This record gives sequence, structure tokens and C-alpha cells, in this order.
Amino acid sequence: MAPDAKDQLAEHLKFFGELGATGFRREPHWTARAESTEQRAEAPRLEPNTDTLPSIREDIGDCTRCKLCKLGRKQIVFGVGNPHADLMFVGEAPGRDEDIQGEPFVGRAGQKLTQIIEAIGLKREDVYIANVIKCRPPENRNPEPDEVDACEQFLFRQVDVIKPKVIVALGTFAARSLLKSEEPISKLRGRVYDYRGASLIPTFHPAYLLRNPSSRREVWEDMKKARALLAAED
Ligand code: URA
Repeated sequence: MAPDAKDQLAEHLKFFGELGATGFRREPHWTARAESTEQRAEAPRLEPNTDTLPSIREDIGDCTRCKLCKLGRKQIVFGVGNPHADLMFVGEAPGRDEDIQGEPFVGRAGQKLTQIIEAIGLKREDVYIANVIKCRPPENRNPEPDEVDACEQFLFRQVDVIKPKVIVALGTFAARSLLKSEEPISKLRGRVYDYRGASLIPTFHPAYLLRNPSSRREVWEDMKKARALLAAED
């Protein structure tokens, strides 16, 4: 094994340990996941939905629906990943790195999210990742209610097109927007919610995890729930 790959493996194993993992899944239904996702991609849809991810992106256009277009955003950060994903992650809004690269979760919080995805045996390209807000708020401030109101419709359409089995809402803003709740993430997490045909699991934001490493255990509990729901028969 190349020294780089060895270091990466050692780092992942350390992170799994810190998350509380005590072993690894080698059962066939885990190693067969990529194939079943492809098979699902070819399965006919039960309900006709003429919306598509490209048409949602086209509708967003060079958006001026809220003030963020005038507050220094470089580009719209639409979403990335497998359009037929069984698992979708929803964050809050792009930060500086995401605004530059045009892809959600590519900065430090993004690296943590990648570790979380890999901790349940998946790769970034197996899942779909999007945010409630598609433009970077200045100085990474919290999204404001009018910005969420203008933008969340596009996230809802993304969910309806992708039709994931499980949605993990990352942090207070994502969980509140999807669940239409005023509660903080600490109150919302710990339960699985029905949401637009998916199971919704709220968990702590990866940026919060970077500041509060002791919350890894709760995130690992939430991810184990997601993994079990993904493995369950339809
Ligand atoms: N935080 C988020 O909520 N989304 C990103 O894309 C990056 C950081």
C-alpha cells in the first residue's frame, strides 16, 4: 500500500474509533450497495415527476430573489453527488471555500462530513449533498429568514427529484427549515421524522463537531440509525 494511502487509512481508523465504532461491516448487503443504487436508477418511477435537477438549476438562474446576490457571493452552490442517492445530506449555506469552488462542503467542515460518510461505509459520490441556502452569507453569518424563504423551495424540489430513503439534516438551520420547527438541533435530534417520503435524521453540523469533539458520539448514534434505515428492505 502506498504511504499516502496508509496514512489515510490510519486516520480513518482513528476517526472511527473516536466516533465510537467498535467494528466494521463486511456483510454482502453493505458491499453490494453501489450496485443496488445503480439498479434503482434504472427502475421506473412510480409517480410521474417531470422536474429534474438540471431544470431546477435552470430555474434558479443567476438568482436575484434575495439580498445575498448583492452581498458578495461569487456563485450559486447548487448541490453535488449521485442524483439517485438513497442518502442525502442537507447543510445550511455555502461558506468561503464552497463559494469559491461552487461545491457544498469542501472546506474543513466538508472534510469532517466526508469522514462521517466514510464511517458508514459510503463514499461522497454515493450520496447527494446540498444546502438550504445556495449563496454564501457574508462573513458566514447565519442565514436570515427572508433568505431561507426565498431559497428553500429549491431544496424541496431537489429532495422530490432525488427521492432519497434517508435525509440527514446537518445543524439547526437545515433541521428547522425541513421540519418547519423553531426548536434547536439539540431538541430535534435523537428522533427519526417522516419527511416527503424519506426518513429524516437531524444531527449536529460538522462545523459544530470541529468545535465540540465530544458530540461525536451523538453523531455516530445518528449515523448508525441512518445506516440501519438504508439497509432495511423497502
Ligand atoms: N457549511 C454548510 O452548512 N454548508 C456548506 O456547504 C459548507 C459549510
